[in-house]
Amino acid sequence: MSEWWLNSTPTYNLQFNTAITMNKPTIETYIGQGIVPAPVIPRSVCGITSSQEAPMELKGPLILFSSGLDSTYLVREALKTSNVHLLYVMGNFNRAKAEQELAAREKIKQWFNDNPESQYRIISDTIQQFEMGDSFQMINAVKLSQPLMWLYPAMYYYKPGLHTSVQIAYVKNDHMSPHLDDLTNAWNILTKFIKAGQIPLTFPVRDVDKKDSYNALPKDLRSLIWVCDNPMIDGNRNIIECKQCGPCKRRATYLNQEST
Ligand SMILES: [Zn+2]
Repeated sequence: MSEWWLNSTPTYNLQFNTAITMNKPTIETYIGQGIVPAPVIPRSVCGITSSQEAPMELKGPLILFSSGLDSTYLVREALKTSNVHLLYVMGNFNRAKAEQELAAREKIKQWFNDNPESQYRIISDTIQQFEMGDSFQMINAVKLSQPLMWLYPAMYYYKPGLHTSVQIAYVKNDHMSPHLDDLTNAWNILTKFIKAGQIPLTFPVRDVDKKDSYNALPKDLRSLIWVCDNPMIDGNRNIIECKQCGPCKRRATYLNQEST
């Protein structure tokens, strides 16, 4: 089967070095790498530049999609009412995690292609490398480090004539939940300076309980998500889940509840 997300140009702007090493990265690996390059900004997505208006059938939200539970749930929900565009921001502080997420994303996209639940489709997918270098420590020192790392590249990437909003899948009781309104306000102020125009930042599943989102996903789709924050490398140099981090433990709890 042809790769369906490659059907218009350029829909898949692969912008990272695919030769990801299997060495387990540590934060130390990335400290002292010097200056932080700005994100590479694709000149166009689906052939649409910042100043152009896309045809209706190409329009849709730009969803930050990591292959985790929350963003997989969000993509599925969004596909019920609209075509969607996906974006992955690859910070370089955990290569093993990024590698697993990128592989899981491909499988999940294929699942959506093979199991359409509406007339809508994933229109484009972009991987945006965002080298953090020395500033990783700095940005990690503030509460908003995670969304800032996603929103800064998104801000430079979105096309107002193509993307109807930027969406992030924070669910109920996420550590970011108390800050979502502040984030929206910051986005609204900062994007005033984007020459091409503003689009809203939204959190469509902010009131959804994590357990409910897990149970809502079809089992075969659920088996494709990657949750671990801290993957390890086993004796055969396979990347495996740590089974210790928060997301790993939560998934184990859900699986237990299912089998009882
Ligand atoms: Zn884990």
